[in-house]
Amino acid sequence: MREYQVCSNCVMDTTDTQIVFDEHGVCDHCHDFNDHVLPNWHPDAVGEREFQAVADKIKLEGQGKPFDCILGMSGGLDSSYLLHLAVKKYGLRPLVFHVDGGWNSDIAVSNIQMLVDGLGMDLYTEVINWEEMKDLQLAFFKSGVPHLDIPQDHAFVATLYHFANKHKIKYILNGGNVSTECVRNPLDWLYYGTDLRQIRDIHGRFGKRKLKTFPFSGILFHKFYLRYIKGVRVVKPLDYMPYSKKIAIDTLASTYGWRAYPQKHFESRFTRFYEGYWLPTRFGMDTRRVQFSSLILTKQMTREEALEELRKPAHNPATIDEEFDYIATKLDISSDELRDCMNLPKKSYRDYKNQRVLFNLGAAILKKLGVERAIKR
Ligand SMILES: [Zn+2]
Repeated sequence: MREYQVCSNCVMDTTDTQIVFDEHGVCDHCHDFNDHVLPNWHPDAVGEREFQAVADKIKLEGQGKPFDCILGMSGGLDSSYLLHLAVKKYGLRPLVFHVDGGWNSDIAVSNIQMLVDGLGMDLYTEVINWEEMKDLQLAFFKSGVPHLDIPQDHAFVATLYHFANKHKIKYILNGGNVSTECVRNPLDWLYYGTDLRQIRDIHGRFGKRKLKTFPFSGILFHKFYLRYIKGVRVVKPLDYMPYSKKIAIDTLASTYGWRAYPQKHFESRFTRFYEGYWLPTRFGMDTRRVQFSSLILTKQMTREEALEELRKPAHNPATIDEEFDYIATKLDISSDELRDCMNLPKKSYRDYKNQRVLFNLGAAILKKLGVERAIKR
C-alpha cells in the first residue's frame, strides 16, 4: 500500500492513485497547470479582444436567423454566468437549451427560470425518457464502477450536439473553464462520459430495457464529424476573460436573485448524492479536492481554507438518510437494494469494454494541436 501523501501546493492526494509528486511534494496536476495551461491562458485584455472578435463573427453569421448560437443551461454557476455575459455583455442571441434528466433540484429549476425571465428569453427544454434514464443509471449502480454520473452527463452532451446538428447551429457556447476546472477529475474517479463502448457494455450486462430514445453521441460524432465535417464550433468564452467564482455568484444573485449551491454540480439531486456521499464513502474519492485545487491554482482559495473545508463531510449527515430514500424511491428500488449496491465489489472502467486507447489518441492529437491543454489521466 502506498503511503498517504497530499500535494504541498494544492490538495490533491494519493486517493488519486496515479498521482505523482516531485521532490518538493508538488503533484503532477500542479505541474501540468504551470507548464501547459497557464502559459496559454489569457483571461485579460488580450483574451477579451480575442473573444470580442469571435462574438462579432457569431453575430454576423447569425444575422437573419432566430438564434446565433446555442447554450446548454444546467442551472449551475458556469452556464448561468455565461448566459448572463453572452447576452448582456456581448449581445449574443443564444438558444437557451436545457436537458431535463429527471434530477433537477428545486433551486436549479428556480435559478434557470429567474435567469431566463430576467433576460427576457425563452427556454427550450428537452426531457429524457425517464424509464430509460433510470434503467441506465441502475445498470451503472449494479456494475460497481465509480463513474455513476455518466448517464446524466452523456444525455446532456449528446442531446445538445444532436440538436445543434439537426438545426444547423454552428456555435455552441460552453461554460467549461480553466478558472474553476483546471484540475481535472482523475480517470479512475470519473471516466470519459462519451465512451459508448463502455456504456453499451455496462448496460448490456445490467440493463433491463432497450434504450430506444436515449441520446447517444460517440467521440467520433461530436469531436470529429461535427467539428471538422459540419464545422460546428464549441466556444468557451469564460476562458477569454477574468472569471471569478465569487464575482459570478454575487453578480447573478444581485441581478436575478439567483441562489448558489453548496457545491459545484449540486444543481442535480443525483450528483449531490453521488459526489457528496456515494463517491467519497464507497471509494474515498472526494471531488472537492479537484474543485478546490483548481481554485487554489487560480488563486481564488487558499490551501488552508481548502483543507479546513475538507475536514467536513461533503454531504449533510443530518439529512443523508432522507436523501438515500429519495434516490432509491426515484430509481424504483428499496433503500436496502440501494445499500446493497454500496457493498458490491469495487470495479473500475478497466473491468468493462472501453475505448480508452481511442480517447488517449484523440487527447494526444488535440494536445499537439493546442486545442486542449490540461491532461485527463
Ligand atoms: Zn498539486
